[in-house]
Amino acid sequence: MGTRGREIVGMDVDELLELLNGAYGSEWLAYYQYWLGAKVIKGPMKDAVAAELTLHATEELNHADLLANRIVQLGGTPITDPHQWFKQSPCAYDAPEDPYVAALLSQNIAGEQCAITAYKNLMDATKDKDMVTYNMALTILEQEVEHEEDLQSLQEDLELMVGRGAK
Ligand code: FE
Ligand code: FE
Ligand code: MG
Repeated sequence: MGTRGREIVGMDVDELLELLNGAYGSEWLAYYQYWLGAKVIKGPMKDAVAAELTLHATEELNHADLLANRIVQLGGTPITDPHQWFKQSPCAYDAPEDPYVAALLSQNIAGEQCAITAYKNLMDATKDKDMVTYNMALTILEQEVEHEEDLQSLQEDLELMVGRGAK
């Protein structure tokens, strides 16, 4: 823990650590949802979609890394028991039980939309209070916004293909 770095945080650090650990749990769940989705996927455009899901998985794991580092910097402990990922995450884990491309896309789009809201909330909570966390949340938010658009554009391509293609 950096003592001066912690002192300049103008908000309750324990409350901040709760928010950071919730986001940390979400990122591990998002990582697994994407990683497994890319393995089980079936249907049209599955190779293109699987490549994007795999890339997003690695990016979610990188978000978990950023969050863990910030938690440790603030003197906290990243969630040690994976059961707590479910309990503390603001976003649900949506098991990829239906492997159809369109089903995976829509459940991952919902996940990104939840993540966008969660990072917007983290930015609102840290604005003018903790610039370091604010900046990190912005970095992650930029990538979640990109993820949503990537998946929605694949969804659009899939609809065009399925709607007009097989005639
Ligand atoms: Fe993420
Ligand atoms: Fe994402
Ligand atoms: Mg992408």
